[in-house]
Amino acid sequence: MNTVPILMYHNVERAPKGVGLRGLYVTPGRFRRQMQLLKWLGYRGISQAEAVPYLRGEASGKVVVITFDDGYRDNLEHALPVLCDCGFRATCHVVSDAIGAYNRWDAEQLGARKAVMSAAELRQWVAAGMEVGAHSRSHARLPELDEDALYAEVQGSRAALEDLLGRAVTSFCYPYGAAGERERALVRELGFASAVSVRRARARPGDDLWNLPRVAVGGHHGPQVFPLQILTAHEDRHQ
Ligand SMILES: [Zn+2]
Repeated sequence: MNTVPILMYHNVERAPKGVGLRGLYVTPGRFRRQMQLLKWLGYRGISQAEAVPYLRGEASGKVVVITFDDGYRDNLEHALPVLCDCGFRATCHVVSDAIGAYNRWDAEQLGARKAVMSAAELRQWVAAGMEVGAHSRSHARLPELDEDALYAEVQGSRAALEDLLGRAVTSFCYPYGAAGERERALVRELGFASAVSVRRARARPGDDLWNLPRVAVGGHHGPQVFPLQILTAHEDRHQ
């Protein structure tokens, strides 16, 4: 059966010395080789919004969905030129209260302040043909919130991004992948076309559009792991 792998990246940057969770960093050179490999294999890199018809079984083709979590500036500096060279599109899921600031939610834990794109930089990302998705206002663990706070995080992040970009935001990404029935139902009711988690597998047609699994691309993996993640059941066994 055909699959629609949804890749999850965070930083496209060389990991600073001593930083926690080095797997969140993929170097720019590695990222370029990964995108070139996909192209060579005949895949097209698409955004999460573009993936919906493939996941509904209404379109078919060799596609890989490219997503970046949190909205880091290094995505614009290092990933965007590669995506443009390959003719690929991608989605960056932005924490709306962190625009022009940094990763307040885990800077201390990681020992690294990572710059999040400013409003002008997000507009550059979109002007290049890329998508912006919502990733809550503050990177809260949504299942821990009461109804009002949950609504503010989900709808508030979308409203802020739509105001900023002047276009509809239809893709969502759960912070930490944390979502239960209530969170998924709200995201669906609010009209998001799809939402991604951190559950590990290649997505496939017929999957729940508001609970999509992803393939985490880690900087700590050897270079041989990436093709296995795309082409084999390497990720799917963990379901
Ligand atoms: Zn995140």
